[in-house]
Amino acid sequence: MSKISYVNGNYCEHKDSFVHIEDRGYQFADGVYEVFGVINKKIVDYDGHINRLFRSLKELRMNSPINKSSYYFHIKRLVKINRIDDGLIYLQITRGVAERDFKFPKNARSSLVMIAKGISQDTYDDTFKKGIKVKTVKDLRWKRVDIKTINLLAPVLAKQEATDHYCQEAWLIDDDGFVTEGSSSTAWILKKNVLYTTPLSNSILNGITRQSLIKGLNKNKVRLTEKKFNIIDIKEADEAFITSATQYVMPVVKVDHIKIGNGKIGKYASIFRKAYMEAVKLS
Ligand code: PMP
Repeated sequence: MSKISYVNGNYCEHKDSFVHIEDRGYQFADGVYEVFGVINKKIVDYDGHINRLFRSLKELRMNSPINKSSYYFHIKRLVKINRIDDGLIYLQITRGVAERDFKFPKNARSSLVMIAKGISQDTYDDTFKKGIKVKTVKDLRWKRVDIKTINLLAPVLAKQEATDHYCQEAWLIDDDGFVTEGSSSTAWILKKNVLYTTPLSNSILNGITRQSLIKGLNKNKVRLTEKKFNIIDIKEADEAFITSATQYVMPVVKVDHIKIGNGKIGKYASIFRKAYMEAVKLS
């Protein structure tokens, strides 16, 4: 079956889906993106993701090329025509095509592309059972990572460094030795029945999965503290996790040379995954 992507109002064969060489996304990383999880043909936490997309656009003084209400239609249509049961929709908006010049172009129309990808639930379940390994890496990103921009060079380098060390994620370390977040996920540790995650600021992305997990935890007995943690805390941690729109809740069993708990996934991994799944909105 051929794969269909959305490019500026058109549904195209994926292999023939192109943008111009002077698209500002290509030249300046002048754009924003979102990733929507798909479970059983339904979009996970659509409102949270679309609202964050509009916040990102506003922060970059960029216009949406289509009405807010039209996004849902196109996302659902892509899920349908690509016959996605479980997977993701990647959506990207750039400031459009214009002759190369740092200043905002006067008349460019923002570019919008969407790509659908199927990922079987088994792939997630297999990784969940084993847990993942994390490598700590210096956080080299700019000072507004609360905006979900397509400027992802630092996370690319971080993830590659993790991969080079046979790890699946990098945890980014700030100048004071604290974990900000993962290269493409939110970071968590559980220590003496208290769950830690970095407080919201311009130094992390406000994860939509983070928000839903927090909602789900309110119903459980786990105490949550939005407090930074460092390598000493990680050494004392009983469990650790990452969350993201594509990984949902994923246990971490090793950080650098440090085994978390006994190096196997802990009992809270399933509890948190369940709490998260009960809190998400599917539409
Ligand atoms: N932090 C960063 C840097 C990310 O790239 C992501 C994933 N986009 C997240 C956190 C998690 O955000 P979400 O739960 O909305 O996917």
